Amino acid sequence: MATITPMMEQYLRIKAEHEDAFLFFRLGDFYEMFYEDAKKAAKELEITLTARGKGEAGIPMCGVPHHAAANYIAQLIEKGYKVAICEQTEDPAEAKGVVRREVVQIITPGTVMEGRAIGEKDNNYLLSVTPFEGDEYGLAAADMTTGEFLVTTMTGSFSELIDEMAGFRPREVIIPSSFEQGRRNELEARLHVTLSNEDHTEPLDEGTGLVQALSDGKTKETSYQLIWYLKRTTKRSLDHLQAARFYLPREYMTMDVHSKRNLELVETLREKKKQGSLLWVLDRTETAMGGRMLKQWIERPLLNQGTIAKRHELVGKLIERFFEREALKEHLQGVYDLERLSGRVAFGNVNGRDLIQLKKSLEKVPTIFQTVRSLNSDYGNSLMHGIVDCQDLRHLLEGSINEDCPVGITDGGLIKDGYSEQLDEYRDAMRNGKTWIAALEKQEKEVTGIRSLKIGFNKVFGYYIEVTKPNLPQIPEGRYERRQTLTNAERYITEELKEKEVLILEAEEKSEKLEYELFMKIREQVKAYIPSLQQLASVVSTFDVLQSFAAIAEENRYVKPTLISEGTVDIRESRHPVVEKMIDEGDYVPNDIYLGEDRELLLVTGPNMAGKSTYMRQLALISIMTQIGSYIPAHQAQIPVFDQIFTRIGAADDLAQGQSTFMVEMLETKHAVSKATKQSLILLDEIGRGTSTYDGMSLAQAIMEYIHDDIGAKTLFSTHYHELTTLESALPRLKNVHVSAKEENGTVVFLHKVIEGAADRSYGIYVAELAELPPKLIARAKMILKEFEAGEPQIRKPVTNYSPEPDSEIHKEVPFFEKKEENGPQQLTLFEEESLPLQKSKNKRTRTEDKVITELTSANLLHITPIEAIQLLDKLQRKLTK
Ligand code: ADP
Repeated sequence: MATITPMMEQYLRIKAEHEDAFLFFRLGDFYEMFYEDAKKAAKELEITLTARGKGEAGIPMCGVPHHAAANYIAQLIEKGYKVAICEQTEDPAEAKGVVRREVVQIITPGTVMEGRAIGEKDNNYLLSVTPFEGDEYGLAAADMTTGEFLVTTMTGSFSELIDEMAGFRPREVIIPSSFEQGRRNELEARLHVTLSNEDHTEPLDEGTGLVQALSDGKTKETSYQLIWYLKRTTKRSLDHLQAARFYLPREYMTMDVHSKRNLELVETLREKKKQGSLLWVLDRTETAMGGRMLKQWIERPLLNQGTIAKRHELVGKLIERFFEREALKEHLQGVYDLERLSGRVAFGNVNGRDLIQLKKSLEKVPTIFQTVRSLNSDYGNSLMHGIVDCQDLRHLLEGSINEDCPVGITDGGLIKDGYSEQLDEYRDAMRNGKTWIAALEKQEKEVTGIRSLKIGFNKVFGYYIEVTKPNLPQIPEGRYERRQTLTNAERYITEELKEKEVLILEAEEKSEKLEYELFMKIREQVKAYIPSLQQLASVVSTFDVLQSFAAIAEENRYVKPTLISEGTVDIRESRHPVVEKMIDEGDYVPNDIYLGEDRELLLVTGPNMAGKSTYMRQLALISIMTQIGSYIPAHQAQIPVFDQIFTRIGAADDLAQGQSTFMVEMLETKHAVSKATKQSLILLDEIGRGTSTYDGMSLAQAIMEYIHDDIGAKTLFSTHYHELTTLESALPRLKNVHVSAKEENGTVVFLHKVIEGAADRSYGIYVAELAELPPKLIARAKMILKEFEAGEPQIRKPVTNYSPEPDSEIHKEVPFFEKKEENGPQQLTLFEEESLPLQKSKNKRTRTEDKVITELTSANLLHITPIEAIQLLDKLQRKLTK
């Protein structure tokens, strides 16, 4: 066995304290990883795995160069891992024995400050959950990159807690180590987060300021849990973290995770892309901060009618005043990410360029404020009230930081002339020295007559006089002292030159050092502004989001909805904000939506693909847009504030998690019927599709009756069970509407127009025809449908034969399926005799064809949905064409 060196002992000791992170162990210019860390990192990062020590006993090892580490760390964080950075904390030259090493920071998905892991328009929330007695939970959320810090408590089911958490789109969740395993799994599965443990919740000196505004012990405990964790991982000042703000989930419209996903609010369901989401339509923000705020608003529509109206008011002003809006937009373009810049200042990794960005942003603030003031908007003015515009900070930066400063902060070039007398003196010395050298060069050229003589500088020899070989004889004897010989030239020095050199270099060194010190002082000064900058950021972001709303409203002809606290939904000529953008302009068919006292439930019928689910989603999206303060795609509208939106639409993502579609459907329905109030909006798409007809129909009817009688929530219910349309006569507040389609030359044309009354037929076959299933299958389906419609016996009858070749001349009917019925087997002609060919006797059917026929004939058309019918037809067609 390889002996363990003292250094490896040190490694193992530190590693034992950081089991759940990759330990980046600093060894000279590399960060090394060993053992399991090394194996895993080599795989994840695609770097070479080597071994420390020889033979089989060698310790697996891999490493990344120190200067390239950021990129590797970012990759690991992105994959949800944590990385503990272990540095050498004493000078190796002075170390006795093994160099002292310590973990200086633990980077985790929820605490990472920069890198590609966080998009500029994304927040990066770290959540902390503390369970209390009696199903109560404390929930804290902090974004280290922006300083935002929120906390709340909730009592209720764990699932509701998860819904609330999902609104933050967290990447990491902190829990006590005693947290129940089953619930851990649930958090991981539903939120796809990294879980971290933190058991400290007691007060911590540094946290007192952060929690002072909180009044109860539980929110404080939860906040401390988060603060302890941050302290332990970042090991730095938490200066830019804002004081924790208590919020009530009830301040916002409630939507569960599924509904948010299904409505494709910030990304599409399947591809997880922004394009195609509501956010995509609404986002014309000019700043990263505005982009993040918009996303937060969409996740949390407001309930307070007053605040919503205020947002609408300012959007209205911005729409009316085009020039001001354009000016505002232009000024906003010059504003950098004040929140993240503040974060860097607090975290201590700000550089000169960041401060220049800060300065440039602050330059825009007065003009932004002036522009908004000129709009005479009550809300606009109230937002700016009491906000410090930080112009003194701008002046400080203007007077101190060089516009074209370098990225590094140790090599000088950061501080402006005139900011520090001392620095100016050093710089003068440097400049004078250089002027002196230039003069010397001129003088020596004249004295020697060598026109190519020049004075140069390099790090090893300092300043020198260089003369090319052919000119050497011209140098007066003893004038220079030889320093270095090159192929073509000789380099010389003089005493004077060396004296000047010392002065110049000294001044240079001192000025660099002084610049660094000055920079650090300026940084400290900026730190004091962080709270003001954060407030400023929030106001500027609000303006940004609202100008975005105004721009979108004008471009897409949106209108201001009239908001009422509760009551009738009356939207005229509304459109789906996303679908109308995905199809050709002007092709979208607008529809009215009316839900009132005598019409709380709408039963939406119509052929597949007609636009039922689009119509339903349209209402949800319009309500959300209204409640975040946006205008809406409609001709005019009156909309009540909805307290919650429930949707039961599609289940693609749940299937992957192994729950049966039908079970998910029922769970979501349960959620809706148990939580919804009269002020809620419920959208149920094709409920009961996942089970047999009578089962499904009975459930669907019972659900509608329940909502109708016991909840009274505004509800849209789409179904393909036409039988349900008769409910209209039994339930006074239920009305039938349908999305119309018409038949033209044997195919169906979708009109996408929602009209009163029930649809008369399903058109499933026409959709199958659109999908280009074989004409014969379609013809057969039409025929079966006719039989059903004619009230023919509903029991499967034997069918005649089937031919793969339409032009055969020999027709012979061969019954291939007989069903025992009381009246004995019945012969049935499959197709209208002349028009459709039958089996060719010389061509025996293949086994596949037999199978297809059996399957087709045994399919119970009463018990399958149009979609399932298409799937079946598709499968059969594929079998035949194989
Ligand atoms: P259903 O739920 O009835 O099966 P969808 O709502 O999914 O149908 O709509 C199918 C397609 O029809 C949509 O993807 C969209 O392109 C188009 N569509 C729906 N409603 C409209 C409309 N009002 N105007 C224009 N096209 C529409």
